[in-house]
Amino acid sequence: MTLPLDTKSALVTGGSRGIGAAIATRLAADGAGVVITYNSSPSAADRVVEAITAAGGRATALRADSADPAQLQAAADAANAEHGKIDILVNNAGIGTGGPFDKTPLEEFDRTMAVNVRGPFAAAQAVLPHMPEHGRIINIGSVFADRTPFGGLSAYVTSKAALAGMTRALARDLGARGITVNNVQPGPISTDLTPSDGEVHAVMTAATALRRFGTPEEIAGLVAYLVSPEAAYITGATLTADGGFTA
Ligand code: NDP
Repeated sequence: MTLPLDTKSALVTGGSRGIGAAIATRLAADGAGVVITYNSSPSAADRVVEAITAAGGRATALRADSADPAQLQAAADAANAEHGKIDILVNNAGIGTGGPFDKTPLEEFDRTMAVNVRGPFAAAQAVLPHMPEHGRIINIGSVFADRTPFGGLSAYVTSKAALAGMTRALARDLGARGITVNNVQPGPISTDLTPSDGEVHAVMTAATALRRFGTPEEIAGLVAYLVSPEAAYITGATLTADGGFTA
């Protein structure tokens, strides 16, 4: 049976849990050979690889802290060594810190920017020599870049707004090579990053038109579309999947 991504390979940062795990699983189910990175949860990464492999897919996991460009370079080189090219880069790894603006240590700001902004920038640079024409770069931003419902998110929101700008800039820089670059902005999605109950969960749920959190698989479906041939003319775009949070 021919699958849509049979001849493709993908590098998914932060693929061990949450949205990244769902994206890796979906791309592998569509036929891609997938390499996932993680930072601190090797057992979770192993479980994702085992599940993909058990389902007949191709996947491996590597530790690569997205805050460290050398580790991202090593991950890109390893993915290329394994698959001979990298057709798809999904910059998913991200951290969500929070707290009062005037109490936010600059070290926390720097770490957030290093993982959420410099990481995708460095990963794209590392992957580029291995990326053929018709390559795809997908950044996972956040709807908070467009609408910030609470205080206490200054570093995180700054990082995701920067990622949206970077997406437009890289789309211009890489368009002549036939590579598209897009930004997927999830709304509230049920993962370890988000509260599973309590006041914030209730407020976020009520703020969506659909009155529910989304699932990681619903974000993975949008990514699967963006890497498909149908999305060949979409680049520099921010696509929001937020259950109507910004409606
Ligand atoms: P999770 O916290 O559930 O998972 C984060 C993933 O990223 C894990 O695999 C984690 O691996 C990895 N990761 C974290 N830090 C690093 C690092 N320094 N280097 C490499 N990998 C790292 O997050 P989500 O799945 O919820 O979020 C994924 C992306 O989606 C993020 O960019 C987030 O900002 C964005 N997003 C999420 C929303 C939500 O509601 N969940 C809403 C909007 C955007 P490990 O455990 O090994 O550290």
